[in-house]
Amino acid sequence: MPQYAMTIGGARVTGTATFEVVNPATGRPHAEAPDCDEGQLDDAFTAAHEAYKSWRRNERARRRALHAAADLLTRRTGQLAPVLTAEQGKPLKDAAYEIGGAAWWLRYAADLPIPHEVLRDDPAAHVEVVRRPMGVVAAITPWNFPLMLACWKIGPALLAGNTMVLKPSPWTPLTTLAFGELMREVLPPGVLNVVSGLDPLGASMTAHPVPRKISFTGSVATGTKVAVAAARDLKRVTLELGGNDPAIVLDDADPHAVAPQLFRYAFENNGQLCSAIKRVYVPERLHDDLVGAMAKLAAEARVGNGFEASVQFGPVNNRPQLERIIDLVADARGRGAHIAAGGEPGVGPGYFYRPTIVTGVGDDARVVAEEQFGPVLPILPYRSVEEAVHRANDTHFGLDGSVWGGNTERAAEVAEGLECGTTWINTHFEVHPGRPFGGHKSSGIGVENGRLGLEAFTEVQVRHSPLPR
Ligand code: NAD
Repeated sequence: MPQYAMTIGGARVTGTATFEVVNPATGRPHAEAPDCDEGQLDDAFTAAHEAYKSWRRNERARRRALHAAADLLTRRTGQLAPVLTAEQGKPLKDAAYEIGGAAWWLRYAADLPIPHEVLRDDPAAHVEVVRRPMGVVAAITPWNFPLMLACWKIGPALLAGNTMVLKPSPWTPLTTLAFGELMREVLPPGVLNVVSGLDPLGASMTAHPVPRKISFTGSVATGTKVAVAAARDLKRVTLELGGNDPAIVLDDADPHAVAPQLFRYAFENNGQLCSAIKRVYVPERLHDDLVGAMAKLAAEARVGNGFEASVQFGPVNNRPQLERIIDLVADARGRGAHIAAGGEPGVGPGYFYRPTIVTGVGDDARVVAEEQFGPVLPILPYRSVEEAVHRANDTHFGLDGSVWGGNTERAAEVAEGLECGTTWINTHFEVHPGRPFGGHKSSGIGVENGRLGLEAFTEVQVRHSPLPR
């Protein structure tokens, strides 16, 4: 089996131990990743700390290096995309799309202005607010978009002058390890260290005394542990956590026209997306038409090994996640749900599950109340818009939401009532490196992307000098 290596202090580092990485389309291990030990983790943080001393000094060099990183990543898309498909499951074209997005994010960050504000400038005093880097950042990512979400962190963190130790999920470490190897060509040693290991490695990172900032993307349960660990020595945190995004369809929407869009944003990446539509609220009158249209799309979906050209949806990423989807659908069935499409795992050793449309459940069913993070979507009828908004907000999640209707002004008014970080009208999950993205309530703390995302990798310093400059 191929063995991947870590990047520590600009060098290739193999593990004293390794763990196997399974291809979810076959259910079989296909590569090994290093299981970083505590000494190697110390080395990574020491290397990042040393590199910080010079990296933070030259902003122009940082911008150049981030451009070079983006260009190199773009050139190597064909090399990395199969690695991503083999470990994550997503179709090869989606893997290439993710890598293209990751490069875009790096390139965009390379040109972001670093905020700087003059508060007073007169004969008595010059007062300005500058943004200083924090030092070493510990970055921890999940398994759904491993490279994209890493680059959401790497771009702004490095631009601001920080250095980083990055740990991907043990389910999908390989693309990030391969990326770390690539980056040795364009980044000074120690600026970006990539380590891999099982979940306890994440806990060791958050407890480590060197990093001053933790940038975490993952579940609410783990994010809460990260916040507790960070509190011990007041590390700064950005937490991008789970979502249970509602989509509210208004009564002036055409169910046949919106169905393909709702389907796309609910099942993108097989529903394994923090911002996937995870609940659809629809007026009673339109319910059956919408369910029929969505069920047809689900029945037509081409599910299979992501290396086959015609495949639209690959497998679920890992066995526990597949079992969770099976449990959620069983729970819904137990409550008398109607499964309008899908509802069964595929045959074979891979973790396949067809896109599934569930109706006839209350909001207390697990498939509605919990984040499914998989190819299952409940469609829920409502009587009044007020009721729909209340039910959409009746959750501890608050990542995003969307409203769908013929009259966009009215839809925008309804969207104002949603308690979440982003609202969309007649679309969903349109993200951009220049727009802040983050969750309300349990869906997170802070934002990534844009000026606000960059500021989250800095500390404010007020500089007051008594004489004009
Ligand atoms: P997870 O929380 O299980 O794992 C995320 C990462 O945390 C992994 O790298 C894991 O190894 C690490 N980890 C585990 N225990 C840790 C600990 N005690 N301390 C520090 N790190 C630890 O999440 P997952 O299953 O990999 O990802 C799915 C979740 O991520 C979903 O809830 C999804 O909504 C969320 N997510 C959120 C966003 C967002 O931007 N808001 C984006 C993608 C995914």
